[in-house]
Amino acid sequence: MPIVTYSPYNIPVSDIEYYTIVYACHLCDASEFSNARNLRDHYETFEGKKYPSTKSRTYNTPTQQNVVKNYGCPSCSDHYDTTNELGNHLDEKHTPKARPEVDTSFKSLKNENKWTLSTGTVVEDQLYEFGKLQIREHPSQSFIFDVNDSELYIKHGTFTSGEIEEIMINYSNISLQLPDDFKQYLNKFNCKSNSRHKKSIVTKRKLEDSYHQDKHFDLD
Ligand SMILES: [Zn+2]
Ligand SMILES: [Zn+2]
Repeated sequence: MPIVTYSPYNIPVSDIEYYTIVYACHLCDASEFSNARNLRDHYETFEGKKYPSTKSRTYNTPTQQNVVKNYGCPSCSDHYDTTNELGNHLDEKHTPKARPEVDTSFKSLKNENKWTLSTGTVVEDQLYEFGKLQIREHPSQSFIFDVNDSELYIKHGTFTSGEIEEIMINYSNISLQLPDDFKQYLNKFNCKSNSRHKKSIVTKRKLEDSYHQDKHFDLD
């Protein structure tokens, strides 16, 4: 007598398709890789393509039934029947597009008009490189520093936490979107000295003061 088990969605278990996710390069015949990370390493080392890491993980559960082999994306949880489809997905979802208009405006920037930090880092140059990594449109492609991206800047080596503070301290003539709890936010970057914190907070206070003054002025 056959045993038929039903899944919560009332599909007979025998009709459920299982995927075995394998990792393979869409550009060469390199053998399959054991995980997404190894495939990303292969892309970077052998194909010169850097794909972002993924937080999701796929676990293959051993099963004998209705197993379909699929090629897993090394950068998200999507998977495809063929490496061709995987390649199209990588191009579309995980590959930054060329932006000639950004290149043109970057080239038109004069060095003497760029902002060089005390560490020697040139702000516009770093924002340009950061902008090239972005899949979608991003303020950095217009050479706009966004304090909300601080963690990303640090992660990509665009700016150090000290450089970000220097930018924020000196950027008072441009309206910054400051996070609600400014001090707590700065603490996340393990700042070396407390005096730096104080300076930054003073900068914020000055901004607020001048804002209030403007307000009063308007009321008068
Ligand atoms: Zn390859
Ligand atoms: Zn993907």
